Amino acid sequence: MSAAPPPGGRRIGMFGGSFDPPHLAHVALAQAAVAQLKLDTLYIIPTGQAWHKARTLSAAEHRLAMARLAFAGLDRTVVDEREIQRAGPSFTIDTLEALQAENPRAQLHLIIGNDQFAALKIWHRWEAILKIAIICIANRADPRRTEAGFDLETQARHAVLTLQLPLMPVSATAIRRKISSGNASPQDWTPMVPEPVARYIERHSLYISP
Ligand code: ATP
Repeated sequence: MSAAPPPGGRRIGMFGGSFDPPHLAHVALAQAAVAQLKLDTLYIIPTGQAWHKARTLSAAEHRLAMARLAFAGLDRTVVDEREIQRAGPSFTIDTLEALQAENPRAQLHLIIGNDQFAALKIWHRWEAILKIAIICIANRADPRRTEAGFDLETQARHAVLTLQLPLMPVSATAIRRKISSGNASPQDWTPMVPEPVARYIERHSLYISP
């Protein structure tokens, strides 16, 4: 897949997530995407209702505030609250179609970790996602396997790119677990998140109960 800009069009990225909390791998992935895909704008989109996650997410206002802190200062990156404002489940295809309508000649890129890519076939209107956006995948140290995994043949037929990113064994789940375990010291988890996010988590006593 060529990384050449579309004729006359902008290069737009979408990076969605629960960001509960946002951590250093999210920031590294956003930076890598902007640089390697030569994006004009990367939209960081905290999810409203995550239909595909079993647990209840932290309040949207906290996740949004932490995302703003985590991604502040990253060039060409905008934290966008449209999924939080939208009623009902947050479907990625709805957001991609809205971004395409706002930027008719843009080439869209969807930035995801390989755990999410492996589950893409259970996403709402996944074929439409593959048609509207180039899928840009980051490898994850601990990809969570799913039954609905993609095979290589399917990948090859669609617009799929791999982002170059060192494996970062960090997840929001691990951070929440460390904080809620009660016997972890701040040193056990604060190095995994941007410093302003660590301060925000402490100030609002997030993740203390499991
Ligand atoms: P949780 O542990 O709560 O499921 P998470 O750490 O996977 O959260 P999300 O907000 O769900 O974080 O992830 C947003 C996006 O970032 C997803 O596409 C996910 O695959 C990707 N991602 C998260 N952590 C990493 C990582 N360590 N390396 C590469 N990609 C990652």
